[in-house]
Amino acid sequence: MPTALGYAAHTSKAPLTPFQFERREPGPNDVQIEIQYCGVCHSDLHQVRDEWNNGIFPMVPGHEIVGRVTRTGARVTGFKPGDLAGVGCMVDSCRSCPSCGEGLEQYCEKGFVGTYNSRHKDGAPTYGGYANNIVVDETFALRISPKLDLAAVAPLLCAGITTYSPLRHWNVSNGRKVGIVGLGGLGHMGVKFARSFGAHVVLFTTSPGKAEDARRLGAHEVVISTSRDEMKRHARSFDFILDTVAAPHDLNAYVSLLKRQGTLTLVGMPDKDPVLKAGNLIFQRRQIAGSLIGGIKETQDMLDYCAAHSIVSDIELIPMQKINEAYERMLKSDVKYRFVIDMASLR
Ligand code: NAP
Ligand code: ZN
Ligand code: ZN
Repeated sequence: MPTALGYAAHTSKAPLTPFQFERREPGPNDVQIEIQYCGVCHSDLHQVRDEWNNGIFPMVPGHEIVGRVTRTGARVTGFKPGDLAGVGCMVDSCRSCPSCGEGLEQYCEKGFVGTYNSRHKDGAPTYGGYANNIVVDETFALRISPKLDLAAVAPLLCAGITTYSPLRHWNVSNGRKVGIVGLGGLGHMGVKFARSFGAHVVLFTTSPGKAEDARRLGAHEVVISTSRDEMKRHARSFDFILDTVAAPHDLNAYVSLLKRQGTLTLVGMPDKDPVLKAGNLIFQRRQIAGSLIGGIKETQDMLDYCAAHSIVSDIELIPMQKINEAYERMLKSDVKYRFVIDMASLR
């Protein structure tokens, strides 16, 4: 069986430390990937610290994985050794329920198998991408264009698809006024996609120092969300708002900014649930929704769209040894705008 070297948290209170473990022997449908880069998602931090109360330890996080195929099983048709490949948040699903049938494996009725902090169908724990290799069924591997900077592609596998999917689903396009809340890993991709789809983009941030970057990334306007006056100026004006914030905050302030029948979609998942004012929704027939990553087909569509439009993430490359420091900085919203681990640092 292939041996993997990575970093793991052994309890929710412990920092990540070096960890050696086994991957499964590649089966006929599997590809083995030498991981070159892995993005650092705020979900990694939520799970490592067991904020969602579902932690399986030891935990090797990481679901923004890119690298090169080193081995392929006998029945693999989509990849050959040497090809670039990516793995996102899922490594399997039931493959037979209506959601899986529609290519929406993230909503699998039996629950998809997560890339880490989850269990394979045989009950074995899954280990993620903070490691030097991974073995995955080719159905859940993504094709990566060699045209883009590989390290900056990694965050597309989660931050990219998690913002692309709802912006597409709610038809964000020319002539629509769209808000993105929070300029972190997800938020900065949301700004890039919404702008690329032709919308008028407004970025809401609690960090005044990010305003200039937000404009450079594609926002037409920036609102400092702690200023009531600035918020009020946009009352009843948005078609769609995407909320990427990782910490508890007041959603009612954003609902008030929606037009009649506008939608506020949540992708950020703080450890406390929001309190909503029903009247704020009822009187303007407004809607609140949620959205989870994206299916494999849509993830491939998003990667192909990014290759065609030269869209990648703005990243800060770190060695694996700096991961605990990176988490502390992420908690302070001090990341521009996604940490990506360089796996060469493990060798
Ligand atoms: P991130 O890089 O840490 O960005 C989150 C941003 O939220 C921060 O940069 C900050 O932006 C803002 N923020 C932080 N604390 C805040 C507070 N107390 N009040 C208001 N704003 C605050 O995190 P991320 O990786 O983008 O992930 C964001 C959230 O999405 C996490 O909860 C993560 O688990 C979740 N997620 C969901 C999915 C899904 O499928 N739905 C997928 C991936 C991640 P400003 O400085 O601009 O205010
Ligand atoms: Zn993620
Ligand atoms: Zn299913």
